[in-house]
Amino acid sequence: MIISVASGKGGTGKTTVAVNLALSLKNIQFIDCDVEEPNAHIFLKPRIAGEKKANIPVPEVDEAKCTYCGKCREVCAYHAIAVLPGSDGKKGSVLIFPHLCHGCGACSLLCPQGAIKEVNKEIGAIEIGEKGNMQFIHGRLNIGEAMSPPLIRQVKEYINSTRIVIIDAPPGTSCPVITAVKESDFCMLVTEPTPFGLNDLILAVEVLRKLQIPFGVVINRSDIGDGKVEDYCANEHIPVLMKIPFSREIAVSYSEGVPIVEKDASYQDKFINLYLNICGIKNEANSRH
Ligand code: SF4
Ligand code: SF4
Repeated sequence: MIISVASGKGGTGKTTVAVNLALSLKNIQFIDCDVEEPNAHIFLKPRIAGEKKANIPVPEVDEAKCTYCGKCREVCAYHAIAVLPGSDGKKGSVLIFPHLCHGCGACSLLCPQGAIKEVNKEIGAIEIGEKGNMQFIHGRLNIGEAMSPPLIRQVKEYINSTRIVIIDAPPGTSCPVITAVKESDFCMLVTEPTPFGLNDLILAVEVLRKLQIPFGVVINRSDIGDGKVEDYCANEHIPVLMKIPFSREIAVSYSEGVPIVEKDASYQDKFINLYLNICGIKNEANSRH
């Protein structure tokens, strides 16, 4: 079972929930896809055994062969190529913007002159390790690199679905989140009961409904703010999987980089119940199809 943990906005406690759930269960593979700011390792403290560089193929143009026809510019959906045709006997020019390139390969495939070859550009690294019997994998995007989805896709190639896979997704509702949660069996949306929390939850719900991924909500710091998140979930028939009241003990534990289940074992049962809750909803959804 692949469970992704997402949130419409940062700072809701998404990683805290993902990490504590992982530590409460057995046979876990933990995949941190929040590649711009991976921080699950701070709490899990895995022993990292290996690292693999992550590359994407970006185009390189042989201007001796190029006729400046502009086909590569036309085919690039990401505006990563500009072609300046020559005039008055002057040579033209092809400009590549590697930070916009998604490495899709369309330009090199469609260049009629065979003037484009692909060269590897390093965008980050994937680190693999373990914590007890938990397998841990995370991606780290290079600083200044804009394209996180290709790295997230490469991190997800390590998914071992014979285990319970927990994916810590990036916050938000844009491409990186969609790349991270796609193909999940279930997605947990972690939110907080505030107007901002509700606004971003609504956006995240729209995304998950489009992707047709079953989901439920975890309300963190559930006793601060107002009841509008719960009202929204009730009206939309969205299961509230767990409510975590604000606790000084959890906040202190977080600031020390220690998961609450390691400090207070009574929390383990709560996270096991969260998992059982997810299994129940998933089984119900399966039986309807
Ligand atoms: S498609 Fe090929 S020949 Fe045409 S402008 Fe691009 S690199 Fe040059
Ligand atoms: S590889 Fe794809 S994204 Fe990159 S420049 Fe070529 S067409 Fe654009």
